[in-house]
Amino acid sequence: MDELAEFQERARAWLSERSASFETVSGVAKAREFMAELHDAGFSGITWPKEYGGQGLGVAEERAFHKAAEGHSLPLAPFGIGLGMCGPTLVSIGTEEQKRRYVRPLLRGEEIWCQMFSEPGAGSDVASLQTKAVLDGDAWVVNGQKVWTTGAQFCDYGLLVARTDPDVPKHRGITMFVIDMHDPGVTVRPLRDMTGLSHFNEIFFDDVRVPLDQVVGEVNGGWQAAVTTLLHERVSIGTGRAGTQRAASFEALAERARAEGLTGDPSVREGLLDLYLQERAFDLFNARLSQEAKAGLHPGARGSISKLLLARLTLDSAAAAADLLGPLAYDPLEESSGGLDAEATARALTWAPGMALGGGTNEIMRNIIGERVLGLPREPQVDREIPFRDLKVGTQKETGR
Ligand SMILES: Cc1cc2nc3c(=O)[nH]c(=O)nc-3n(C[C@H](O)[C@H](O)[C@H](O)COP(=O)(O)OP(=O)(O)OC[C@H]3O[C@@H](n4cnc5c(N)ncnc54)[C@H](O)[C@@H]3O)c2cc1C
Repeated sequence: MDELAEFQERARAWLSERSASFETVSGVAKAREFMAELHDAGFSGITWPKEYGGQGLGVAEERAFHKAAEGHSLPLAPFGIGLGMCGPTLVSIGTEEQKRRYVRPLLRGEEIWCQMFSEPGAGSDVASLQTKAVLDGDAWVVNGQKVWTTGAQFCDYGLLVARTDPDVPKHRGITMFVIDMHDPGVTVRPLRDMTGLSHFNEIFFDDVRVPLDQVVGEVNGGWQAAVTTLLHERVSIGTGRAGTQRAASFEALAERARAEGLTGDPSVREGLLDLYLQERAFDLFNARLSQEAKAGLHPGARGSISKLLLARLTLDSAAAAADLLGPLAYDPLEESSGGLDAEATARALTWAPGMALGGGTNEIMRNIIGERVLGLPREPQVDREIPFRDLKVGTQKETGR
């Protein structure tokens, strides 16, 4: 057996030994324990540098682990943002001290991370953010508000982008910081979404003192730092590594249609064919990105294609499952029916719209693909050279400041 096959076999054996416990691993504390075990066994941070706690292996080993993990539902949800976005940003542009301090505990699940970019007045146009950080002796003092922050109620640290110079155009006066979420000036309030759960939060910062060595990247270079995080985010979401809640695969939908005798109905056939094509396009595109990653190429802006394909597939498969199940899709007592799981469908129906927003909306993905992948003319940006202080954005709309 070659080394890669041996690695995959070891992963498969390790996972099946524990398979029974995945169903019972509930709660963040248990998930943390699982991550520590995963790290000790050599399966967390497979491609991450060894000197910071990773395994120092290649993309081939990472794929082998994902193959071995197929069919297991691993309790990794609390770590999605840290593993997919914050950690890779720290490894790319963090200082040596930051990498040595933060990456290993992140990979072991000892410290959970969130990403604080969006604000009530700055989502798609995140460069319009108003949370500010002002230099005061040996620290930056942060005041302001963030919103839609996934998982913040469980987090120990987060990456924040804040305005550090309002006198220059909006993209040039932003800085990224590591924030200790346990600081008494940080207030996290969970927001209930339509799944009935609290996936995300609003966060308030009141005179939070952030030491100078918590700046990530350059002071006022936070836009480049944020773009680094967002590129990682789209690849992480798009490849499904951040976790998704698909209602059903094409196969399960087709089985249900067959059970109902609906495969002769042209509109059902057309819907199923469309999903089949979407699923194939998504799998083939991601297979291509994996091959390129093996050759050392980062997808860059093309990560937005995966993200857009997955958001459409998630929405359309939830809608198709609901059509096939009819009212059963909304019945919490209905467990499964002809290849479809009614509870999973109900969950996917309420979760799917969020996929078209989180990590950048479908419209923004299309803009990025148009401008940065296809080379189409850029959207006009009349505010690009105007000092942030003079823009009518967020609360500045009302006050003129
Ligand atoms: C499930 C979920 C998890 C999230 N997690 C996080 C997180 O962890 N951290 C974080 O910082 N944020 C998070 N977000 C927030 C997310 O990034 C924003 O919701 C998103 O960027 C859109 O911003 P907005 O909600 O302010 O909408 P807006 O930016 O106000 O957009 C409103 C509408 O206008 C459209 N639009 C805006 N600008 C353009 C344009 N230039 N061209 C065409 N159409 C445009 C949008 O597509 C959208 O349809 C999360 C959101 C969701 C749903």
